[in-house]
Amino acid sequence: MEDNRFIYIDEIYNQQVKFKEECKETSVYNRVQLLKKLKATILHKEGEIKDAIYKDFRKSIIETETTEILTSILEINHFIKNLKKWTKSKSVGSSLMFASTSAKLLYEPKGNTLIITPWNYPFQLPLVHLIASVAAGNTVILKLSEFTPHINAVIKSIIIQVFVSNHVAIVEGEIEETTHLLALKFDHIHFTGSPAVGKIIMQAASKNLTDITLELGGKSPVFVDKNINIKEVVRNLLWAKFVNMGQTCIAPDYLLVDKAIEQEFDHAWKEEILNAFGINPIESNDLARIINTKQFDRLENYLNELKNSDTNWIVSGTNNKSDLFIHPTVLKNVPINCALMEDEIFGPILPIIYYQDIQQALQIVRSKEKPLALYIFSKKQDYINYVLGNTTAGGTTVNDAMLHIMHPNLPFGGVNNSGLGQSLGHYGFKSFSHERAVLKSNFFPMSKFFWYPYNNNTKKMLG
Ligand code: NAD
Repeated sequence: MEDNRFIYIDEIYNQQVKFKEECKETSVYNRVQLLKKLKATILHKEGEIKDAIYKDFRKSIIETETTEILTSILEINHFIKNLKKWTKSKSVGSSLMFASTSAKLLYEPKGNTLIITPWNYPFQLPLVHLIASVAAGNTVILKLSEFTPHINAVIKSIIIQVFVSNHVAIVEGEIEETTHLLALKFDHIHFTGSPAVGKIIMQAASKNLTDITLELGGKSPVFVDKNINIKEVVRNLLWAKFVNMGQTCIAPDYLLVDKAIEQEFDHAWKEEILNAFGINPIESNDLARIINTKQFDRLENYLNELKNSDTNWIVSGTNNKSDLFIHPTVLKNVPINCALMEDEIFGPILPIIYYQDIQQALQIVRSKEKPLALYIFSKKQDYINYVLGNTTAGGTTVNDAMLHIMHPNLPFGGVNNSGLGQSLGHYGFKSFSHERAVLKSNFFPMSKFFWYPYNNNTKKMLG
């Protein structure tokens, strides 16, 4: 029997395919007008956005204001300011051989795009990639995560208000809906999510040789030298680790710390967690919740596995399943081959490894997949250079955490298992554009030096 459940997806897709050429021709002025309308609609619905994300996983209002709404608005502003410049063709220099030609790069919309997003930053992630694709002149089907129904409803209402559905449309649903979408032929797929699903996306895209951007995850290590202001570094990492309840793709996953500062460092974590969340962190308004019981169980299993090991529990407390609350947890002496040290943690659990020799720390990082982010804290440039020179990562912030993602002129992306391609700002625009090479012979066809019959001139040209 024919499966008619996803006819609505086919209808949206077919409409967008028909609209593709018209969409490609929209002027930069019109695209900017749409971005301005999108910005105004977001600001108008700010209250609804905050309420919805609170309902989905109790994210604090201040975190939603900064990490969801502000980041989206800053990205829109950046595009509004620069789109004209970015869409202009760029002349490229020539060599003597090409002296009679001119050469340039054109930025063409790719066409029909599919954007698939996860639940952890359920407003910002769909929005920033949507902004880039629309600004580049594409149609978009936006597939939202099935785990955030409240914010999905608000995003849908924003999209309907700003765009016609043959230009931008939302598809909600689970694996079946995504699988159906992935069987369709798109010109670009932008996926944000886990490396495991990233492989499924890449395989599906390969059937049509569809261009892809994969924004994935992994274990992001932090190197901490003995030469630091301990309190400042711990406060910094405390925020980076516990914002969004640790459910951040570039959150510090584990720390590699010089053993010389072990005692003071342990003590600082105890003190700063108490200062930040009080004696009973479950009552803190600043801590979000784990998204669902599946993720809660995954995190609790990591901790259960450690109960009979030599793990030292620097900070821990009672977890609460009905409230989807995992107590902020800091550990040391965890077995190197436990699940916590194998998987991306993606929750409020932080293992610390104290090293005596930096080679030991480098070896641990190199034994794992290439990380999405890597952080270094040191006052010594030699230490920073040594770690940079002996590791790789999608991006790095030095003496601070996570800020490289916010810089308007840096690309964001992973490397191999943590991602393919780059996003955000100009890099996002380029990911959703085809950079077309155009060469024009100005005075005579340059290829005439190669024309038949071959002779000595040809030999000279081919050098
Ligand atoms: P996920 O890979 O499970 O899901 C992401 C999206 O893929 C969702 O829309 C989901 O519905 C869909 N999906 C899930 N299984 C699928 C399947 N078998 N076939 C087709 N589609 C499927 O990821 P998640 O749990 O929602 O998010 C957490 C992961 O995302 C973490 O690994 C995190 O590091 C990563 N992440 C990366 C970034 C980044 O920018 N690099 C940002 C946020 C999250």
